[in-house]
Amino acid sequence: MIRGGRRRSQPPLQRMFGEFKCPCHSDAKWSSAHVYCVKGTFKVYFKQECSRCGVARTPYHVDYLQCSMCGKKTPDCVCGYDNDGGGENRSPHRADLCMKCKSGLPCASTLCGR
Ligand SMILES: [Zn+2]
Ligand SMILES: [Zn+2]
Ligand SMILES: [Zn+2]
Repeated sequence: MIRGGRRRSQPPLQRMFGEFKCPCHSDAKWSSAHVYCVKGTFKVYFKQECSRCGVARTPYHVDYLQCSMCGKKTPDCVCGYDNDGGGENRSPHRADLCMKCKSGLPCASTLCGR
């Protein structure tokens, strides 16, 4: 394992749909189509913070995004699911609670980027 100190290496990520809840408040639930897992796994790489207590939470449920074009889940889709056509992603992304956005890798730029 090579672990260089100068650059934090990031594994290839895959955007997923995640559902969160915070154990601190029984009614604190949210979902996001900007959950990033290590590609090919359900290992959540970037958590999201609870808007109430600010504690970073791992989603209790992670699923593949459904393509808005063909309706297939990410592994079966060939038309490029990452175009973020909408669908499940109705609510605006809370960049202030997203560990990925906060780490200097805003989700918005990865959508229209590569
Ligand atoms: Zn909380
Ligand atoms: Zn598709
Ligand atoms: Zn984000």
